[in-house]
Amino acid sequence: MGVPSVFLRTFGCNFKCAGFGMPKGELSNEAENINPDLYTEYKSLPLVSTGCDSYASWDPRFKHLSPVLDSSAIADAIVDTLPHKEWRDEHLVITGGEPLLGWQRAYPDLLNHPKMKSLKEITFETNGTQELSEEFIDYLVQWQMPDVDFEREITFSVSAKLPCSGEKWEDAICPEIVCRYEDVGTAYLKFVIATEQDFADAECAIAAYRKAGFKGHVYLMPVGGVESVYTLNNRRVAEFAMKHGLRYSDRLQVPLFKNEWGT
Ligand code: SF4
Repeated sequence: MGVPSVFLRTFGCNFKCAGFGMPKGELSNEAENINPDLYTEYKSLPLVSTGCDSYASWDPRFKHLSPVLDSSAIADAIVDTLPHKEWRDEHLVITGGEPLLGWQRAYPDLLNHPKMKSLKEITFETNGTQELSEEFIDYLVQWQMPDVDFEREITFSVSAKLPCSGEKWEDAICPEIVCRYEDVGTAYLKFVIATEQDFADAECAIAAYRKAGFKGHVYLMPVGGVESVYTLNNRRVAEFAMKHGLRYSDRLQVPLFKNEWGT
């Protein structure tokens, strides 16, 4: 948190996470009820308090709001976002949707672009269900050994989905896949927590990842894309994290920016 970062949001996800913020067993239709024809830009879309708060990054009904750009145009747009128009301390955060779907094939072209040469740190925000291809593993390992005089780092921020997301355990908790990320860079797990059941599910999931050999840190994060939901829950989640020796992750964008699009 607090690190200057540029977010590259890819389109598409293998999940819907319609269970977030809903009573057990029920799925949200909040995003489904939004009429995509009424919107011409991403940032004017309504925020939702249930289901996936990034619905427009994977729901095909909103695809017209995501530009289709080649690597060169993306590199130009990213560097134009940087305060000094060149990489200094900024991270590149590649998020989604799920950024490790077929996009794995496109990243080398982007990262090899001359404007991306002095980038030092990349974080993939993933749901931890997508295997890395052998080609992409080789590429990322090489990427971290630049010929120039600085070090590079890759982080996998793995937001594994508990049953409260509405996704099935066997689809969402994939310890072997996540362990493989640790061969390439640093990986940590992050669980979104709303209820006592989520605490219990997180404990089971953590045990499964540890059993498979996962060595990274584990964070708990309160549910809440909107402030009213978030503030109900954050202290309880922090106390549970302290009690169990886990890390707590705040949602800095909620109090600061009210989770507006683009934050
Ligand atoms: S995995 Fe992430 S982007 Fe995909 S539906 Fe779930 S919360 Fe949304």
